[in-house]
Amino acid sequence: MAKHLTHWIGGRPWSGTSERQGDITDPSTGQVSGKVDFASVADVDLAVQSAVTAFAGWRNVSISRRVRILFAFRELLEAHRDELAALIVSEHGKVHSDALGEVARGIEVVEYACGIPQALKGGYSNQVSTGIDVYSIRQPLGPVAIISPFNFPAMVPLWFFPIAIATGNTVVLKPSEKDPSAAILMAELWKKAGLPDGVFNVVHGDKVAVDRLLEHPEIKSVSFVGSTPIAQYVYETGTSHGKRVQALGGAKNHMLVLPDADLDLAADAAINAGFGSAGERCMAISALVAVESVADELSKKIQQRMADITVGPGSSPTSDMGPLVTGAHRDKVISYIPAGVAAGADLAVDGREHPVAQQTPDGESTENGFWLGPTLFDRVRPGMPVYDDEVFGPILSIVRVETYEEGLELINSNPYGNGTAIFTNDGGAARRFQQEVEVGMVGINVPIPVPVAYHSFGGWKASLFGDTHAYGEEGVRFFTRAKAVTQRWLDPSHGGINLGFPTNN
Ligand code: NAD
Repeated sequence: MAKHLTHWIGGRPWSGTSERQGDITDPSTGQVSGKVDFASVADVDLAVQSAVTAFAGWRNVSISRRVRILFAFRELLEAHRDELAALIVSEHGKVHSDALGEVARGIEVVEYACGIPQALKGGYSNQVSTGIDVYSIRQPLGPVAIISPFNFPAMVPLWFFPIAIATGNTVVLKPSEKDPSAAILMAELWKKAGLPDGVFNVVHGDKVAVDRLLEHPEIKSVSFVGSTPIAQYVYETGTSHGKRVQALGGAKNHMLVLPDADLDLAADAAINAGFGSAGERCMAISALVAVESVADELSKKIQQRMADITVGPGSSPTSDMGPLVTGAHRDKVISYIPAGVAAGADLAVDGREHPVAQQTPDGESTENGFWLGPTLFDRVRPGMPVYDDEVFGPILSIVRVETYEEGLELINSNPYGNGTAIFTNDGGAARRFQQEVEVGMVGINVPIPVPVAYHSFGGWKASLFGDTHAYGEEGVRFFTRAKAVTQRWLDPSHGGINLGFPTNN
């Protein structure tokens, strides 16, 4: 039976008032597997009202009780991780092990949020003036909005809402309309964990829902992850309505390989980071910057490995790489192949010719799935569309440079600054790179340097609009605001009138 996904408001499913729906598609078969309701302005208003009502109670729930619910939620996520991963596979297309990986990285943020008492301790200065003490506290903002992309339907929302909820806020999540089921399963798990109704709400939909969240006077902050043009729009619109906004955008991640690197390890890393999740990761490596003296050998090693990648349904345990998310996205990614050839790049491996498994484990045909095999271009240069654009698919481009300096200059002149990596055995060169590169997350012999939950995730330049990165200490700061309290408990020495500005003595 086809599934029907609807909103989650006030602790229960809510069918909404809008007549509009979107298709949910299985990317491995190309078949429509269900429908998702698209929220109207009235539906969003209802979700926000539910978050407003819940905030009055939730902000005053003790930290210990909040944390107990977080621990319970963590256990439930762990118990349901296979189910969550299977939902992601069926709507996103990535392979099951990869989906389990995103759930695991999301759980790490819940674990970080379980330690929120430590992060919220604040500071206390005793006797700052005679008989006066000052202390700082951090308080929740209120109802907050989270708007997430298709490529990590569990992990990206989990970057934000565990910390938002742990710090006393209430949430309205608008997940991607392409793979909406993970958000609803997580809402059900929150309810089972004992979270009061209305603290976590989900509205599905498109621009109508996003725009209402951006302008709604009761929404205090917006955490957005998606493509750069929409991130910029969300940042500008949200801030113009007086909201705190963090908007994470697209990427073009470079991996610089110096001549002294272990080329086998570098080739493995390029394969994993270039083709994992079919290249649909904001931290995917899409430009391999090879110093000329090792470029031929590195290209050969990568090509050998590409032939061994098994492309097939994400639900099959033998698949290394699944399909792209939609037919339209697959067609767009494929269009970079003739465009790259026309621009003068060498098409070393054409993914259109890569074999694809014929059936899903359930025996369904994959003929109409959204496939493109791993593709390699060599001698790519800036100015070619395959280099200039965020392709977001399984196309890896080798850009050849003569020196470290030329490679660094290439990376620093790119408009994006999400992630980057250097492969070398020279500690001095690696240290210089982390010092000089203008990118928010840097890997040294690590191709996908997604920071652990107690550091923070965020790019520079066109990869992030706003001041605050996701999760970790920056996440706690984003979801709270500071209050400084100056106190004096009267004793007989405090009498007298003095109209001057208070000074400390
Ligand atoms: P997207 O920008 O199309 O959509 C993101 C969200 O915005 C979705 O919820 C979508 O419904 C909504 N949206 C889409 N168009 C809109 C519009 N015109 N007005 C208002 N809202 C709109 O992104 P996507 O295709 O879902 O995800 C892929 C993109 O996300 C890539 O560019 C990728 O690099 C980026 N991404 C970035 C990070 C990061 O941390 N920087 C992480 C994951 C994904």
